[in-house]
This record gives sequence, C-alpha cells and structure tokens, in this order.
Amino acid sequence: MTQPAHIGLIGLGTMGAMLALNIAEKGFPIAVWNRTISVTHGFKAEAGSLAPMITPTETLADLVAAIKPPRAIILMVPAGQAVDDQIEALRPLMDRDDLIIDAGNALFHDTNRRAAEAAKLGPHFLGIGVSGGEEGARHGPAIMGGGERADWDRVAPVLNAIAAKYKGTPCADYMGPAGAGHFVKAVHNGIEYADMQMIAEVYGVMRDGLGMAADAVAQTLKSWNAGPLQSYLIEISGEVSAAIDTHSGKPMLDMILDRAGQKGTGRWTVIEAQHLAATIPAIESAVMARNLSSRLDERRAGEAVFGAAPTGKSGLTLAQLEQAMIAGKILCYAQGFALISAASKEFGWPMPLPEIARVWREGCIIRSSMLNDMATALTDDPTRNLMLAPFFADHLKGSQSALRAVVADAAMNGIAVPALSSGLAWFDSMRTARGTANMIQAQRDFFGAHGFERVDGLADKHGPWAGHGI
Ligand code: NDP
Repeated sequence: MTQPAHIGLIGLGTMGAMLALNIAEKGFPIAVWNRTISVTHGFKAEAGSLAPMITPTETLADLVAAIKPPRAIILMVPAGQAVDDQIEALRPLMDRDDLIIDAGNALFHDTNRRAAEAAKLGPHFLGIGVSGGEEGARHGPAIMGGGERADWDRVAPVLNAIAAKYKGTPCADYMGPAGAGHFVKAVHNGIEYADMQMIAEVYGVMRDGLGMAADAVAQTLKSWNAGPLQSYLIEISGEVSAAIDTHSGKPMLDMILDRAGQKGTGRWTVIEAQHLAATIPAIESAVMARNLSSRLDERRAGEAVFGAAPTGKSGLTLAQLEQAMIAGKILCYAQGFALISAASKEFGWPMPLPEIARVWREGCIIRSSMLNDMATALTDDPTRNLMLAPFFADHLKGSQSALRAVVADAAMNGIAVPALSSGLAWFDSMRTARGTANMIQAQRDFFGAHGFERVDGLADKHGPWAGHGI
C-alpha cells in the first residue's frame, strides 16, 4: 500500500513530472494529479524504483484526500488562466490552513492578486520561481520563493532538499512577500536573455568579423569556460558550436534559422523596469534583438537594399572579445540587481540581493562562477551598484577598453552588437558626473516652461528665453 503523501503536485508536464520525481527521490511521498488521466498512470508506471513513493489520483478530491494535513499542493501548469482555474477548483476541497504553491512562470502581478485573494478566502498561497529547465527540475533547480514567510518555512524542508546545491548550500530561498519570488524569477530570465544575447553577439563577431568556422568558435568558448566567464551558458554555447548536423554533415549552428522565440518573461522584465524607471538597457536590447530576429523578411529586404556587411574585416583579437564579454556580463548583472533594488523600494519588499546571487549560483540557467563574487560584493554592501563594488570596478577598469574596441570595431564593420553597445553606453552614462540632460532641461523650459535646477543653487528656475515657447 502506498504511504500518505507529504505533498501533492498538479501538472505532470515537462517540469511537473521531473519535480515530482525529484521530490520522491528525496524521500517525500507525493500524490499527483494531471488533467489528462492517462498521463498520471503513465507517470507512475514509468517511475521505476520511485513508484512506491508516488500516489496517482484521478480526481482533485482524491488528490487532496491523499495528502497529510496541513496539505501543500504544487501547481506546475501553464501560467495564467490555468493557475486561476486550478485554485478555484481546489479552494472548496482544501482547508483554510492548507497551502497552494504556484511553481510556474507566473507574472508577479498575478501572484500578488492570488496572494491577496488567498489571504481573504484561503488556502494559503506561495508563488515560487523555479529555474533550470527539465534537467534542473529533475536533479536540482534554483528556487525563489514569495509569500508569507511562515508558509515558506513550512515547505522549506522539501524545497531545500530538491534544490540545486552550491558546495552543500541549497539554491532555494525566501525572496519576500506575495509576488517577490516570481519577480526575482522574471529578472533572472531578463538577465538570461541578455547573457545569451551577448554570447550571440560575440559569436557574430567571431563568425562574420573574424571569419571563424563553428568548430573554432567552439574551441574559443570552451577555453573561456575555464576562466572568469565560466558559466552554464558559455559551456552549452561551446557544445552547440561543436555539434554536427546529422542530415547535412555541416555544423549544426550553420543549419539553424536565425529566428529566436520567447515566452514573454524577458518582455515582462523590461516593461516592469520602465514602470520602475530602472535602467536595464542590456536586457532591453536583448528583448529587442529577439523581437527583431523574428522579422526575417524585413532583414532580408534591408540586406537587399544596403548590402551585406563585409566578412573577415575585423581587427579584433579573441582576448579582446573575452574581456568585452566579461565587461558586458558585469554591466548586465549590475542592471538586473539594480532593478531588483528599485522594486524592493517601490513595493516595500526587502528582497535580499546577496541571497538572490547565492540562489543563482547553481541549478539555474544563468549559473556562473561570477555569481559567487557577486554574492560576496552584495554582502559587503547591498545598496551599492554592483559596478562600483571594488572587485567588479577593478574588473571593469581592466576590461572596458576591450569592450570599447569590440563595439567600435563591430560598428565599423556593420555587425550588430546591441546588448554590448547599450551596456557600454550605460556604463559611460553611469561614470559621467556632468551629463547632457542640462540641454534636455533647457529645451523643456523653452517649449513648456518646465523649469530647471541651476548648478550654482540660485532660485531662478527659468532661462532668458521666457515667452519664446509655444
Ligand atoms: P508543459 O506544457 O510540459 O506541461 C503543462 C502541464 O500543465 C501538463 O501537465 C498539462 O496537462 C497541464 N495543463 C495545461 N493546461 C492546463 C489547464 N488548463 N488545466 C490544468 N492543467 C493544465 O509545461 P511545462 O512543464 O514546461 O511548464 C509548466 C510551468 O513551468 C509553466 O508555467 C512554465 O512557464 C514553467 N517553467 C517551465 C520551464 C521549462 O523549461 N519548461 C522552466 C521553468 C518554469 P495535460 O497533460 O492534460 O496537457
């Protein structure tokens, strides 16, 4: 006979099935339910030695009855209406003190709303961001939790057990109230977009600027993965560059259409940054580049009119490209953490920046050795922009000239590097004490009498052009 379940899970798709196996493997009996019943039985049948830990159920009432109270049920279904529908269906079946955990990629505003509804109607509600894809879900994802601290603490033993470990420390933590966990997950995905985009840009310079073949790109990325850029994304980029297409015998990369998809979490991050007036141009450029990549016909029309960029004309070295990538990566993370800081202030959620960096060190797609240094720098001073932390400031002092060289060389050779160039423009803006917004202020005062502050502190707020405006 199967044992009473410690926890339940709804949605045995790619992520849910792997999470359920992970939970069972860590010693927690689990009850599962899936909209399509055959999937539930197939899951149990294929669970091998973990099958005795799994209770398949055919109705939501059976699922709830199979779990030891106070119950906790994880939802791993598509974000949006499916989550609301499942909560509505579970509410009458569960006790007020039970807990529903949405582990999908919810928009954090939805999680805020669901948390508020849960506070009024029960059961309790947690929104957790889970990163690491299918492999991570099975063997250790990074987990970012949001909701009531006591609810997090209640399920933390399970979540810590299934999470990835960095030198023994679970990559799972409480990020703050309501939608904080899903907010941090969205920023994670925004950073992921930018990190991937910068790697793609550097690949573009190697392929088009330096005329390198895919296997040479693979060798370069593999060597970078042994240095400061060590990360999952550099590692897999090296692997995909080395792969050979079984149909054509050519490099796989050369056979893939340059049109990238997205599910929207990068876009959410950018929209939220605009609401918060946070500056994340590397992430914005990465989202823009994905949007633009899908406009293949327009790009072909552009090339027909303006001609293709010349190939093999770059004068860059691979060492410069590596240094530029290091600088770009630091700037992108500095922007992402600054966005979380801005949200912490605006929403009144003290989201813990050092803990976020620690959670991202393993399990998630953006895991990298640099995140450990970021965790240290943010522990020293979580209020300081990461680019000003001595460790990263030293890195930037050393690598900024390479970033300039790469952006300038790419511009001269017609190679688009939007994330690297916007990262550099942000860096230059952030290191310029006397910028150019005095011109903006003068223009605004001229046409709209908006007024300005003077450098000498005098009270006069208008220029001598009064009355010339429209
Ligand atoms: P899948 O499409 O693989 O699985 C979806 C699951 O949800 C299936 O079990 C499906 O059941 C069920 N489902 C779909 N619609 C409904 C509905 N209306 N009511 C009830 N159940 C429904 O999705 P994933 O596992 O990839 O993703 C699940 C969540 O995890 C999403 O929010 C996703 O964004 C997030 N996520 C995904 C990651 C990934 O790498 N795939 C990484 C991190 C988060 P049925 O068998 O009946 O179709």
